[in-house]
Amino acid sequence: MNTKCHFCGNKNFKQARVQYIYKHNNQFLIVNDVPCEQCEYCGEEYFEGKVLTQIEEEFYRIHAQGKKAKKELRVPIEQFPELQTA
Ligand SMILES: [Zn+2]
Repeated sequence: MNTKCHFCGNKNFKQARVQYIYKHNNQFLIVNDVPCEQCEYCGEEYFEGKVLTQIEEEFYRIHAQGKKAKKELRVPIEQFPELQTA
């Protein structure tokens, strides 16, 4: 799919499956085992357009149509200026 990494210029890629975090309007969808090509040097991930479209469609089914996701996660959120120093 790629001939050259846009970030580091490396030309070697490997097939990988990674976790993809889709974020839109402060709503999130995490998808595991997403296929991608990964730069062997810097680790940058490249996804096919149809893979990203499938993730966007699933995001829409869950957040707009009320589909129940396979798993849900509680995620802590903090404001950086309020972080306490140890
Ligand atoms: Zn790279």
